[in-house]
Amino acid sequence: MPELPEVETIKESLQGMVGLTIDDIKVMKPEYIRSWENRPADYIGQRISAISRRGKFLIFETDTGRYMVAHLGMSGRVYLEPRGKELQKHVHIVFELDNELELWFQDARRFGGLWLVKDPRIMLKDMGIEPLSRNFNSRYLKPLLSNRRVAIKTLLLNQHLIGGIGNIYADEALYEAGIRPDRSAGSLEPGEVHRLVQAIKQVLRSGIDQRGTTLRDFQDGYKQKGEFQDYLKVYGRQDLPCPRCQQPVVRQVINGRSSHFCPSCQK
Ligand SMILES: [Zn+2]
Repeated sequence: MPELPEVETIKESLQGMVGLTIDDIKVMKPEYIRSWENRPADYIGQRISAISRRGKFLIFETDTGRYMVAHLGMSGRVYLEPRGKELQKHVHIVFELDNELELWFQDARRFGGLWLVKDPRIMLKDMGIEPLSRNFNSRYLKPLLSNRRVAIKTLLLNQHLIGGIGNIYADEALYEAGIRPDRSAGSLEPGEVHRLVQAIKQVLRSGIDQRGTTLRDFQDGYKQKGEFQDYLKVYGRQDLPCPRCQQPVVRQVINGRSSHFCPSCQK
């Protein structure tokens, strides 16, 4: 599933769209549009003025203040193709742009969607803090953890608390911080909370530097794969040696999510 670094990578790759005009919108699957505050036709003739990201959401803004907010779900893709190219399977929405390119929204499993809204701040008002922001620090995280019995891994995935972390980067951050994913959140010592904050920022930044993790589907707006999969230390590496101590990495299901950790390096 695309997480913060993957959505950030797509966002960066699409910056060339800023300033282009939407000539037409084709909707193959109306149910892929999750909010109809604006109609697709409202965007025709509009110029794209900004492309941003919040958590795992990609946000397109037009110069008249209309927004299209995309979530890629499990396997969604957003990418550019030459205008008039034969549509591939599972392409649900197409924006025709005035530079002879089209932006395709493709989603085989359809857990994603597109919201046509007037104000994304209202739609995303319950989204947690951006983990790469300055305000995300131990002073912020410590009170979120205190007295919580939920597993720290589960808490990190809660988008209402922190926006953008999913299974891959949660496992990698907990490994870097030396904390077992099944520890209760409230049991973390102040030093561990500090290490976890640093580790979250570090793995997310590395993920962005490597242009995301491509295990199956992920690609950027020009169909380029990411490379962070080559740098994963525990995620998806069950039974392979821990890079630090050579003990086999363990996979364990925690609250329904598969989790990977080193039982020797993580306490
Ligand atoms: Zn280890």
